[in-house]
Amino acid sequence: MELIDGKELAKNIRANLKEDVEALKQKGIHPKLAVIMVGDDKASAVYVRNKSKACNEIGVEYEEFLLKEDTTMDELLKLIEKLNKDASVDGILLQSPIPRHLDINEAFRTITPEKDVDGFNPVNVGKLSLNQECFVSCTPYGIIKMLETYNIPIEGANAVIIGRSNIVGKPLLQCLLNKNATVTICHSKTKNLEEVTKRADILIAAIGKPEFVTEYMVKEGATVIDVGINRTEEGKILGDVKFDEVSKKASYITPVPGGVGPMTIAMLMANVVKAASNRK
Ligand code: NDP
Repeated sequence: MELIDGKELAKNIRANLKEDVEALKQKGIHPKLAVIMVGDDKASAVYVRNKSKACNEIGVEYEEFLLKEDTTMDELLKLIEKLNKDASVDGILLQSPIPRHLDINEAFRTITPEKDVDGFNPVNVGKLSLNQECFVSCTPYGIIKMLETYNIPIEGANAVIIGRSNIVGKPLLQCLLNKNATVTICHSKTKNLEEVTKRADILIAAIGKPEFVTEYMVKEGATVIDVGINRTEEGKILGDVKFDEVSKKASYITPVPGGVGPMTIAMLMANVVKAASNRK
């Protein structure tokens, strides 16, 4: 079994991006990311802190907009529109979740596609499904990068994703399909899940349930990518995969933490640098 070291890979990607940022600055372009957070979700605060740290490390300017829990949709959209027009801002990220009274889809629709570094605007989602140049959402983008760096064949592979969310499962389905994998996507209504997952050459777990994937669900020699981040009451972070068991059967596996998480942030940085390079 070989561990897919997302932490190390992300570090290398950030080092390369730092050089790209320096080159852009020489040309007078100072890449900038604006992050909007609504309310005070604790997990979101951690993710946002990590994103700001990554910006700092590679020299991307970072501005945070913290909106109160009772912010109206009108106020949120006004801020997004202001940032859309601000020529110094290259990327706009709305940290989810946002309070239930706000319409996240409308907010994503309002972020201009050219600054949509999370790839959640329907224009980018549509382009991904047409296999056209676009901003790819960061977690699927990071997973593809990991598979490619470790020379794990995607073309022709049976890839099985557990989870069909708009931010992970569905865009990952498109990414893998665009790379010629045969893709199956499973969800809570899937029958005989174990039979499906056992056929996977590449198995991706994006469920949000600690240690859900056991050795009985995995084929000998499979590549297993664990997207899950689950916090236990004791404050420990567990993935969606029972690592101790599954790592004995897998040929490649990502750890949690130190797998998909750091890659997600590295690819966000890559998208911000790309947006800045596209400046007119
Ligand atoms: P969602 O809750 O949006 O989606 C979970 C998916 O899992 C749903 O499609 C759901 O099915 C499916 N599911 C739930 N229970 C079962 C079951 N018993 N059998 C089969 N499928 C099931 O989660 P996200 O995609 O947003 O996140 C998934 C996990 O990944 C979370 O732990 C999250 O924290 C983590 N995450 C990590 C990131 C990273 O950078 N490492 C980035 C984003 C998320 P249905 O649609 O039928 O309800």
